[in-house]
Amino acid sequence: MATKPTILILGAGYGGMVTATKIAKEFGHSDANVTLISKHNYHYQTTWLHEPAAGTMHPDRTRMPVDSVINRNKIHFLQDEVEEIKKEENKVILKETGEMEFDYLVTALGAVPETFGVEGVFEHAFSKWTVNGVREMKEHIEYLFAKYNNEPEPRDDYLTFVVAGAGFTGMEFIGELSERIPELCKDYDVPKNKVKMYVIEAAPTALPGFDPELVEYAMNLLENRGVEFKINKPISEVTADGVVLKDGEEIKSQTVIWATGVRGHPVIEKSGFENMRGRVKVEKDLRAPGEDNIFIIGDCSLMINEETERPYPPTAQIAMQQAETVSKNLLALIKGGELQEFTPDIKGTVASLGGKEAIGVVGNKKLYGTSANFMKKMIDNRYLWILGGAGLMLKKGKNPL
Ligand SMILES: Cc1cc2nc3c(=O)[nH]c(=O)nc-3n(C[C@H](O)[C@H](O)[C@H](O)COP(=O)(O)OP(=O)(O)OC[C@H]3O[C@@H](n4cnc5c(N)ncnc54)[C@H](O)[C@@H]3O)c2cc1C
Repeated sequence: MATKPTILILGAGYGGMVTATKIAKEFGHSDANVTLISKHNYHYQTTWLHEPAAGTMHPDRTRMPVDSVINRNKIHFLQDEVEEIKKEENKVILKETGEMEFDYLVTALGAVPETFGVEGVFEHAFSKWTVNGVREMKEHIEYLFAKYNNEPEPRDDYLTFVVAGAGFTGMEFIGELSERIPELCKDYDVPKNKVKMYVIEAAPTALPGFDPELVEYAMNLLENRGVEFKINKPISEVTADGVVLKDGEEIKSQTVIWATGVRGHPVIEKSGFENMRGRVKVEKDLRAPGEDNIFIIGDCSLMINEETERPYPPTAQIAMQQAETVSKNLLALIKGGELQEFTPDIKGTVASLGGKEAIGVVGNKKLYGTSANFMKKMIDNRYLWILGGAGLMLKKGKNPL
């Protein structure tokens, strides 16, 4: 009997987990040896992280042990950190295990923050959208509230919160934080008028690319909760004291949350793939250019939307759809057959704004307020359904009402 090919899946995020789930469903036991490799022994839902970051959800609700979700009869899980892909040698280098060989590789390592060259981001801002990263944000915010009344001279910068970037992540985070501020003020005996929240955006609009009516709705709502927007105002530096804008304005703050977008995982650049900001412009079948056996999906991949001639934004929605195509294409490579071309099927986009508020477009329909909030929670629950069926959805899902 011929030996089974080895498939390695790198990263247990949206792309990696859905690839593993689909392989477990579609492959027979004799088709391949499949190992999913990831840094943590848990999978976390990045798209929920703005909630624990602001303290409106416990971080454990966003994560689950990888072993509890994957089919362990068909998928082996290895907790380790990927350091490099040796594509010419069909090997990956792992921090603990050392070298591992593969016949086929699926790279789904996600993204890291993009600083656009702004100095001081990694030293002074909170930029890690991971479980450990958001734990630190939440603890830091609460600590400053606790500290405020213990200073001989109350310091305004303790209660000044700056969000860099009015894209999806920044807007969802400030939505949660602005919703939580009244509770924090009550718990820590802090007057609400002492709290300042800024969202600073370099582009000429918040939520670039989103429907302008929905953007206006979101901004009005957040302004009514005390958020001040500074639009078209690039940040030139983050310092220990706050942020400095290109026009010279300084905002003193002990809390700068960095949410200006992402670049592909550094392993991509380190491994010598041709890339744009860490993302590989993949072929239609999702393989890296010139590679027969290496697929790249999720935030590490780049695809151009032919209608707009601009890259699709990196989203969980696309990562999950790519994972389905990759599992089919792997089976075609192993058993013979045509490889499928991938086209994103964008079903809609919904951004939560804290509490029962959200905005979104689903199909051609614009959604505001509670109906958008309902849709957002249904999208979150649908993902759990895809991953672990009704059991996981009932255990971890959100109440849409
Ligand atoms: C706050 C927030 C809200 C968002 N909201 C939405 C939304 O509403 N809708 C939407 O579609 N998208 C949303 N996104 C974007 C979405 O989360 C990403 O596009 C998606 O997670 C990408 O999937 P991925 O599989 O490429 O990477 P990830 O899901 O990030 O997974 C990468 C995995 O690789 C692991 N890993 C990283 N480095 C290593 C290493 N060196 N070795 C081993 N493992 C490693 C990580 O631990 C992680 O498990 C949001 C993002 C954020 C931050």
